[in-house]
Amino acid sequence: MSTSHHHNHVVISIDALRCKVCSRIFPGIPQKMNCGHSLCLRCYDRFAIEHESFHCPICGKPVWNICTAPNFELKGILDSMDKIAGDQRGLLESNLDVATERMIEDNKLMAKQVEKLERENGQFRRDNEQLRQKYSILKEYSSFLGLLFGYAAIAAVWLAVDRFILKYLL
Ligand SMILES: [Zn+2]
Ligand SMILES: [Zn+2]
Repeated sequence: MSTSHHHNHVVISIDALRCKVCSRIFPGIPQKMNCGHSLCLRCYDRFAIEHESFHCPICGKPVWNICTAPNFELKGILDSMDKIAGDQRGLLESNLDVATERMIEDNKLMAKQVEKLERENGQFRRDNEQLRQKYSILKEYSSFLGLLFGYAAIAAVWLAVDRFILKYLL
């Protein structure tokens, strides 16, 4: 971090404010690990969601999720940078990062809703399938009944013809 005094302000190298993994200027609150290094929330989550403990991608020391805490000091520096507006491009970048972060959150939410809808759709499909089965059983039953009536009708006609022959022709 190279600093030079200018009135009440200092100039900070923008690289000091970047996440060492994704190189973005920390959006949101950086996460401080027990090794002393900080990662942006997105990078930290990527490691932490998959493993209960992992190794710091910067120094290789073991990191435990339970020991990680928000780095409010670094967040304070980032916030004061927003106020000072020293580097417009950097500011824009960090705003973009925040917007991206928000979009990712929105997408996650939407994915959850889609998942829920798919579950409901699955239930609907199962209900539909059950109805279909019931209907096909009914259909078979009714066609069986139809067949039975058909045979009964043929038998009745045959019987009538038989009687007619017996009565008048023989
Ligand atoms: Zn990162
Ligand atoms: Zn570290």
